[in-house]
Amino acid sequence: MNPRWLPAALLRASPALIAFVVLAWAGDLAPGDAALAAILVILALVLLAAPLYLGLARLRAAVDLMAENDAARPEVESSSPAIRELWLAIMRWARASRAAAQARELEIDTAQLVLHHLPDPLLVLDEKRRIARTNEAADILLGPNLADRDLAVALRQPPLLAAADAVLRGDGDRLVEFDLTDPVDRHFSARIVPLTPARADGSAVLILHDVTVLKRSERLRADFAANASHELRTPLASLIGFIETLRGPARDDMGAHDRFLGIMAEQSARMGRLVEDLLSLSKIEMNEHQSPTERVDIADLLNRVVNGLDQRAANRGMVIRTIVPPDLPPALGDADELAQVFQNLVDNAIKYARSGTAITVEVAPSSKRPAALAIAIRDQGDGIPREHLARLTERFYRVDTARSRELGGTGLGLAIVKHIVNHHRGVLEIDSELGRGSVFTIHLPMAGAPAPATA
Ligand code: ADP
Repeated sequence: MNPRWLPAALLRASPALIAFVVLAWAGDLAPGDAALAAILVILALVLLAAPLYLGLARLRAAVDLMAENDAARPEVESSSPAIRELWLAIMRWARASRAAAQARELEIDTAQLVLHHLPDPLLVLDEKRRIARTNEAADILLGPNLADRDLAVALRQPPLLAAADAVLRGDGDRLVEFDLTDPVDRHFSARIVPLTPARADGSAVLILHDVTVLKRSERLRADFAANASHELRTPLASLIGFIETLRGPARDDMGAHDRFLGIMAEQSARMGRLVEDLLSLSKIEMNEHQSPTERVDIADLLNRVVNGLDQRAANRGMVIRTIVPPDLPPALGDADELAQVFQNLVDNAIKYARSGTAITVEVAPSSKRPAALAIAIRDQGDGIPREHLARLTERFYRVDTARSRELGGTGLGLAIVKHIVNHHRGVLEIDSELGRGSVFTIHLPMAGAPAPATA
């Protein structure tokens, strides 16, 4: 038997024993003794209630301590089993609520971290349109130290400020678009959402999204469609005109028939070339994400392209010289696409260089890239003014539109070249000197070379 148990049991039982003995005798007692007996009963009851009262007081002190200090872990000892049970229940509840609070804090931390690293700039506004908080992207875009400043300090955009005011007035969320011109032109869409119910640390959230690339590609697509239909409409209008003339006023003029049919054949061929180039472009764009894997014998491919164009060059009194080192390693690529690149470049040299001059096609190790070949097509034309060089590979961009059309050009040849070179993770370099000629150089990775990091 535990020796500490006996005194505690006796102490707990003693008030009941005293009360029992006193009440058993109370019937035969004189009034004075009865009063004594009553006092003894009250004493017994007080002794019974004392451990409960002391336990409750300790419990309260412990709970107060835990409320003041979250890290406190007080102990409560009591001789009353009820108090001990109650304490255990309080401890279980405290543990559960601490775990719930920790989970909530973690959730808030994660949400704040996500907002902070969101790629879109984000600002929290208070009810007076002051900036209460910003994320990292907003600090980078608008500069640091914006806390407590009016939104107009960060973004002086009247439509945006009006929209923010409307949201803060309780008119629901708003979407506005605006341009920033400093340091470069950019287009943004801004969404302003009310925080309901409004809270002390914010009344609305403003999220900015940079849509510059989207707008630019939308404009390019619209320009491209307009240009392509314009290019197709011109020969089509000419065909329709000649058909009407042949059916009407020139019905019986056999000389006109021959002339007009010749022009119509030319215009149809022009439309055919344009449609072919447009299809080529869209096919190349569709495959652009898959790197080509063929081993291409560049010497053989250049020979085939040059042989196919020899006659056209000869018609202008030009010669095409090919300089290829022996034992040339194969390039990594798509033979059909690469043939199209050299076909377009040599064809341009024949079209735009002076008649009677030489065109050189030369292959050498690339000085720009390790493990790459440089294939240069050099002509002796009038050259291209420097300000045009950067735009030459844009679709339908020409230095001299009339001349290009007259020579059968579609304005898409160099755009196709650029896309194919990108597809091959190669580089296109254009050099030109007025009065001396132009050099178009393609740097192509050799088969077996590690893929370059950038296109
Ligand atoms: P095009 O069908 O008009 O030839 P390209 O895209 O092939 O279209 O070329 C775009 C423009 O670049 C041409 O219209 C021409 O003005 C210029 N260009 C291309 N190659 C040469 C060159 N070898 N010499 C001079 N100008 C050139």
